Amino acid sequence: MCVEVSRTCKCGKNKIQFHLRDNVLTPEAIAGLFCPECPGDVPFDHETMLMDNDWIIEYDMILAKTLVEKRLGVGQVKVTPQYLFDRGYGAWLEIYPGERMDIDAEKKEIIALAAIDSRQYLRRIHSWNIERLRRLREAGWRKARM
Ligand SMILES: [Zn+2]
Repeated sequence: MCVEVSRTCKCGKNKIQFHLRDNVLTPEAIAGLFCPECPGDVPFDHETMLMDNDWIIEYDMILAKTLVEKRLGVGQVKVTPQYLFDRGYGAWLEIYPGERMDIDAEKKEIIALAAIDSRQYLRRIHSWNIERLRRLREAGWRKARM
């Protein structure tokens, strides 16, 4: 079981879901979220923050370190925001925030094809997926690059 947790960014425009793999972190370890439109009055802190295409996740690193050490017993691993994100212990539920909404919009047109021509539909869905992942990698989203 993995806990899903959502956070609203500082400016209040975006509510984003996070995935906490294996429940290593508790929801409190996700201390803050800043979208690209949030006011930039909080200085970026490499020790506690991770930037992914102008979105910033702030972790409670004291809590996160305690939890990782307690649950994984990895005293030799340096617990950083990058570690927490890349291992999936505290990362976007989606590849990037808002992905689900984009997918629904893009898929609508292709799905209409399913009723008409199912073979062409399968081809289109397949190439759309590949193309989409390529786009996300190019855009530099951290999860797409891994
Ligand atoms: Zn915001």
